[in-house]
Amino acid sequence: MIAQHIAAIRARILDAAKAADRTPDAVRLIAVSKTRPVSDVLAALEAGQSVFGENRVQEAKAKFAALAEIAAATLPKPELHLIGPLQTNKVEDAVRLFDVIQTLDRPKLAAALATAIVKIGRAPKLYIEINIGAEEQKAGIAPARLADFLGLCRDTHKLAIDGLMCIPPHEADPAPFFAELKRLADTHHLPQVSMGMSADFETAIAQGATQVRVGTALFGARQYTTENQ
Ligand SMILES: *Cc1c(COP(=O)(O)O)cnc(C)c1O
Repeated sequence: MIAQHIAAIRARILDAAKAADRTPDAVRLIAVSKTRPVSDVLAALEAGQSVFGENRVQEAKAKFAALAEIAAATLPKPELHLIGPLQTNKVEDAVRLFDVIQTLDRPKLAAALATAIVKIGRAPKLYIEINIGAEEQKAGIAPARLADFLGLCRDTHKLAIDGLMCIPPHEADPAPFFAELKRLADTHHLPQVSMGMSADFETAIAQGATQVRVGTALFGARQYTTENQ
């Protein structure tokens, strides 16, 4: 099942890239495995999917440690992206575990990441989360604050920033929000644009996404338990 879903999503990504006159390798698929068991991640790895997104540091740590014991010798090492909010008390674990942290969303977190990266001697790639719809309850840097925040990250904290990510407002047409994120990334010469989920990844690709984050369309409905809520 998971292998078929991955093949189907990859085909849709290729079609969307082609329709937008983009090269076939212009868009990467991040398989969002939050709430899913190790067995699902293993099935995806066996089907050739090696990039995964997780929302919670502790859940990802337990899951991918278990996976490494089962699969380390035979399958490629997964590339792990953090796509959920990061609390400052979990920053060291996150720096050890993740290859990419997509949710840099506030000055305090930039400072904590800088300290942890120096202390641990490992530097995950960092994307800034943008509150693209200026929603009060949502995390992220306001578009108008991005230039200042980039300056803080780079000049004060010596952090390299690789891209932007967003989650557009729930009920609205996402296309203009995706277009705005791409415009911001271009303005600031940031190569990675992480946008688009199961329901709207083709729209995101049309607007310039370089990475789409797909969960339910690959793995089915999420399995919430007392442990991963
Ligand atoms: C859960 C999640 C996704 C995947 O959403 P689906 O609709 O299941 O594809 C993508 N991005 C973020 C930030 C998420 O939290």
